Amino acid sequence: MDCIFCKIIAGEIPSRKVYEDERIFAFHDINPEAPVHILVIPKVHIPSMDGINEENSAYVAHIFEMIPKIASSAGLTNGYRVISNCGPDAAQTVPHLHFHILGGKELPAHIV
Ligand code: 5GP
Ligand code: ZN
Repeated sequence: MDCIFCKIIAGEIPSRKVYEDERIFAFHDINPEAPVHILVIPKVHIPSMDGINEENSAYVAHIFEMIPKIASSAGLTNGYRVISNCGPDAAQTVPHLHFHILGGKELPAHIV
């Protein structure tokens, strides 16, 4: 499949890995928008938030179980923000479900 993030999971495109287990993969964003900017993705190809269903939601639940641990390991002791852009109006650019973890500074209170 011609998906950048599936290729990152497969090791075909290099990334700066932060965490990996059998269901999820986390790595530093190539174009960080905060001092810490990590992407967390499921190891199954789900195109976006709209693709979450009963069959794959365990991957998403696991992502949310692990986000606090990944954030803590990255030194985000004073808070962080989690974002998932879904579709054109949200400026989703990579069609593989991903959650941005942003932190390492005081972020703007409003994102729109
Ligand atoms: P989106 O705009 O879809 O919510 O976020 C996609 C994110 O993926 C962007 O923040 C972008 O910088 C990041 N990204 C795109 N291609 C790559 C890549 O090849 N490697 C890494 N590490 N991040 C990428
Ligand atoms: Zn994919």
